[in-house]
Amino acid sequence: GATLGVMGGGQLGRMFVHAAQRMGYSTVVLDPDATSPAGRVSHHHLHADYLDTRNLAELARLADAITTEFENVPADALAQLAAHRPVAPAGEAVAIAQDRAREKAHFTRCGVRCAPYAVIESEEQLALVPDALVPGILKTARLGYDGKGQVRVDGREALVAAWDGLGRVPCVLEQRLALAAECSVVVARGAGGTLVHLPPQRNLHRAGILAVTEVFDGVLPDALAQEAVQATRSIAEGLDYVGVLCVEFFVLQDGTLVVNEMAPRPHNSGHWSLDGSDVSQFELQVRALAGLPLVQPRQHSPAIMLNLLGDLWFRPGADAPVEPDWPAVLALQGMHLHLYGKSEARPGRKMGHLTITGASPVAVRQAALAACDVLGIEPF
Ligand code: ATP
Ligand code: MG
Ligand code: MG
Repeated sequence: GATLGVMGGGQLGRMFVHAAQRMGYSTVVLDPDATSPAGRVSHHHLHADYLDTRNLAELARLADAITTEFENVPADALAQLAAHRPVAPAGEAVAIAQDRAREKAHFTRCGVRCAPYAVIESEEQLALVPDALVPGILKTARLGYDGKGQVRVDGREALVAAWDGLGRVPCVLEQRLALAAECSVVVARGAGGTLVHLPPQRNLHRAGILAVTEVFDGVLPDALAQEAVQATRSIAEGLDYVGVLCVEFFVLQDGTLVVNEMAPRPHNSGHWSLDGSDVSQFELQVRALAGLPLVQPRQHSPAIMLNLLGDLWFRPGADAPVEPDWPAVLALQGMHLHLYGKSEARPGRKMGHLTITGASPVAVRQAALAACDVLGIEPF
C-alpha cells in the first residue's frame, strides 16, 4: 500500500494520520519531538529537525506523497522534498502563508479586502506609519499563532515600545477594527483545479485563541457566507493551491467582510467536520494529497465545537492539574470528545476539542451550554 507523509506531529498531524489510516494508507510523521501527538499514532515517526537533509531524504524514501500540518515548516524543506515526491501544498504557497506581509499582498492581488496595514521592517517605516493605523495591533510577520507575537498599541509611543519589545523583527501594524463577528472557510483544491468547501464557520476567539466554532444555517447572513466562500476560492486559485486551505475573516460592525489570515492546512475551526460532515477536513487533505476525487462535503448535523484548553485542567485551589470530568460531559447527548494525547496540560495549550451535534441549532446550543457548565468553560 501507499504511504503518506506529514511534516509536523501536532494534533492536526494526528487527525490527518487517523484519516489516512482509515483509508488504508500507512503514514510517516516528521517532528523533532519524540512524543508528538501524531508521531505516537503513526506507522513511522522520524524525530529530527525539519531541515536535516538526511531525514528529509528518509521521509522522501518512505512516503509516496507529503503534506504539512505545521505552518512554519521551512519552505526550503518542502522544496527539497518536492524534488523527489509530490508535495501539497507547495512550498511557495506555504511561504506566502507564513509571512503576514506577503499574505496581505496576496489577498490584495486577489481583490479581497484586508484591514488597513503597514509593513514595519525599519525605523524609517516605523516613523512613516499613518496615524489612521493607531489604535492598532502590531503583529510579527512570521511565527505568530494563538495571538502570540501580537501587541495592541494605542499611540505612537506605545508602537515604538511594542516594536522594541518584539525584538525589532519584521512586523505588520494593522488597524484595530470593530468586529461584529469572525468566520472562516475551509476549502480543498485538487491538482486539476477542482475546489470544494466546508460551510462557513462562525468563530469566537478569547484572548487571541479560538474558543468556540458554530456551524449551521443562519449562523451568518447568506450573502456574507457566499462572499466568504468566493473570496476563499479566489485566494486558493490565486496560489494555484493544492490541498486544504483555511481563510479567516472578520465581519465588521457595518456588516462588511475583511480577510484576516490564512492557514495552509486544516484548521481548528474545521474540526467539527469530523463529526458533523460526511467528509472531514482531514479526509479532504488525504484525498487532495493522494489525488483522489474531491466531492463537496455535506453537513449532516448542526455543530458546535468547544476548544479544550489546558486551563480546564487547573481548578481553583488544586495545586496539580486535574483531568476534567469527561464522564459527566459524555453523559450529555451528542458529545464527540477528541483528546490529542499531549503529555502535559498547560494554560492556553490546546489539549483537545469537543464537538456537539444534534437535530437542530437550538438543541446543539443547549447541549453545548450544558457542556460548558460541566467543564467550567465560559458560556457564549
Ligand atoms: P491563529 O492561531 O488563528 O493563527 P494568530 O496568532 O495568527 O492566530 P490573528 O488571527 O492575527 O492571530 O489574531 C487573533 C485574533 O485577534 C483574531 O481572531 C481577532 O479576534 C483579533 N484580531 C486580530 N487582528 C485584529 C484587528 N486588526 N482588529 C481587531 N481584532 C483583531
Ligand atoms: Mg495565524
Ligand atoms: Mg487567526
